[in-house]
Amino acid sequence: MLRPSLCPHHALVYRSRQHAGRDLPLRIAELGGMYRSELSGVLGGLTRVRAIQINDGHVFCRPEQAAGEVSAALDLIEAAHAQLGIEAARYRLSLRGEGAKFVDDAGMWERAESVLREVLESRGHPFDEERGEGAFYGPKIDIQIADPAGRESTLSTVQVDYFQPERFDLECPGGGRPVMVHRSVVGGLERLAAHLIEVHGGAFPAWLAPVQAVVLPVSDAELPAAQELVRSCVAEGMRAELASPARGTLGARIRANRLVPFQLVVGPREAAGGGASVRLRDGSQAGAVPVAELAAQCRPRF
Ligand SMILES: [Zn+2]
Repeated sequence: MLRPSLCPHHALVYRSRQHAGRDLPLRIAELGGMYRSELSGVLGGLTRVRAIQINDGHVFCRPEQAAGEVSAALDLIEAAHAQLGIEAARYRLSLRGEGAKFVDDAGMWERAESVLREVLESRGHPFDEERGEGAFYGPKIDIQIADPAGRESTLSTVQVDYFQPERFDLECPGGGRPVMVHRSVVGGLERLAAHLIEVHGGAFPAWLAPVQAVVLPVSDAELPAAQELVRSCVAEGMRAELASPARGTLGARIRANRLVPFQLVVGPREAAGGGASVRLRDGSQAGAVPVAELAAQCRPRF
């Protein structure tokens, strides 16, 4: 179905079957499409789009499990940020504001806020509190990122929600309402891609680079050896390409591929030995590194 957000759908998934006591916490996560009819004037590059692929998840748990689930979501977010090379600008505890935009149930807001505040304090991470930034149904921990111009946006979020379980009439096995913990580890993939391009200037960590190795034969004489080397790289699981002499001088080809983590230059000596001289993005020479070792450096470490 077309969804403006995934939360209600996940609530229906939870409600669609009976649960046993040991099923909780029940965690549902997906990389799902959601759609927003934004006005064309507010659309911008990859950061504001109409079709969003969001990495989203909802945990249905007993009230006493909520703090543990929030903390686990923060662990996951922090691990993902470390792998992606993302640094958070700040953590924000986003609270209810004035007005009809927010569900009118002071006790519910207080309970949810105290769970989030307790988790943030126990983790010792500094955070700012801001009124009016909460979701309509509950408070959030927002992990903010900033672009080079200092403009902030929310990348990751964890929310405690007592409202939607009520609204969708969800039940814990044995009675009582579950709590819904909403969490998005890296938000929408479009905004994530835009941010990664900014922070890395296109020089992605090797595991994430679209092309991990480029093979550069010095002249046509080394072309067969270079093609063979591309095949070995691909066989080892790397994303590798050939930049043949037809594309210009060696210097021009190196410049064109300067963002590729491993640039494998094949001269007459390397062609004879079946290897390559490895040049890194910073211009330094790593010498003759076996393909298996390069492949190991290209693998994600999670
Ligand atoms: Zn949600």
